Amino acid sequence: MKKTFLSLLSIMLLFIMFSPESFARQNHPPTNGETNISSIITYDEMIKELESIEKRSKDELEVFTLADLGYEYDKSEQGRDLYVAKVGNGPKTVWVQSRIHGDEPYGTEATLQLLKRYTSNQSAQYQDVMDELTLYFIPMYNPDGSEMNIRQTVLYDQETGEPLLNSNGNEIRVDLNRDWAEGAFQAVESKAWYSYWTDVQPDYALDIHHQGLKTDPETEEAITMSLGISLAPGGPTLPNLEGGLYEDLTRQMQVHVYDALKDYGYINIDRYTVGNVNSGFSEIDIHGGVVSAMMLGLNYEGQNEEEYSHPAIFFETSGNTREGNLGQRARGHNIQQNVRGIQSLLHGLATGEVYDADAERWDEIPRPDIDGYTTDHSGFVPVGF
Ligand SMILES: [Zn+2]
Repeated sequence: MKKTFLSLLSIMLLFIMFSPESFARQNHPPTNGETNISSIITYDEMIKELESIEKRSKDELEVFTLADLGYEYDKSEQGRDLYVAKVGNGPKTVWVQSRIHGDEPYGTEATLQLLKRYTSNQSAQYQDVMDELTLYFIPMYNPDGSEMNIRQTVLYDQETGEPLLNSNGNEIRVDLNRDWAEGAFQAVESKAWYSYWTDVQPDYALDIHHQGLKTDPETEEAITMSLGISLAPGGPTLPNLEGGLYEDLTRQMQVHVYDALKDYGYINIDRYTVGNVNSGFSEIDIHGGVVSAMMLGLNYEGQNEEEYSHPAIFFETSGNTREGNLGQRARGHNIQQNVRGIQSLLHGLATGEVYDADAERWDEIPRPDIDGYTTDHSGFVPVGF
């Protein structure tokens, strides 16, 4: 009897020690740099948090996976479920996605904080949003990359469950934010989220990123947040879409956010550019980015035959995990900047204030002079093309 009890006990102990959950807890992803990422939320912690908010929300929040909805492609490359949190009862729909780049963590936490506010706070500004909008939050677009603390995802052989290797014997990494394009869709996550997007047909979208530490080249002040439009206003693509409608709407969305945030002492905003003082600066005009493909109305494999499209923008706050401890120290700031930014955009869409913003005031938001546009379709396109 005693012996049976002891062996039972040891089996239980072994199980606890090696259960997938404790394994995940003990093995935080590799850090590469010096960043202590133990404070960054893991995939399992996100699920727990979502479920707990859902439980307390009295049916206001719906948490589900693409597998729950029965999609053909419904998991990540490594077999993780893909989560959606849906909230609000309004006629306008907004898609808010975070962490498409796995090492850009804080959009997930900002999303969770906002879900708590929208489901528990009765103040007028939250009520406006809940009454006028239906929100589709994707708190972790790239769960595999997030668990590995890398930008991309890694392709797996879906039959054997082993990583696919290229001709040099290396694993194949795919940037999910270049994977919504004809001839792309290499990763199963891209197929899954794209199919879901064609069914949701949101009216607007926002994509949350983090960039490296950045300073204003003139004032040398730290830039804490960059506002981005992935098809550059005035660039080769955006002015030609829908008779210029998306060029106006995307700029109005960003101007509204800029006005709402610019007077907070710790937030210093500019327009998103790539490059540096030595190489020169450019804006991006990429077709394969997810929010670009949404504006282009990408019809992949006949899933979007009417070429449904809508305006979409992105935020880049400082603090990806590639930047070491400096980025990590600003964790609280970065979460709060995203919370304020997302909240102001959603409130502006709910009340209609976004449409009152002057699109031309996009040019008032600071930005270094640019030489041209970095594209994924026509190489580098100089200004005045
Ligand atoms: Zn990113």
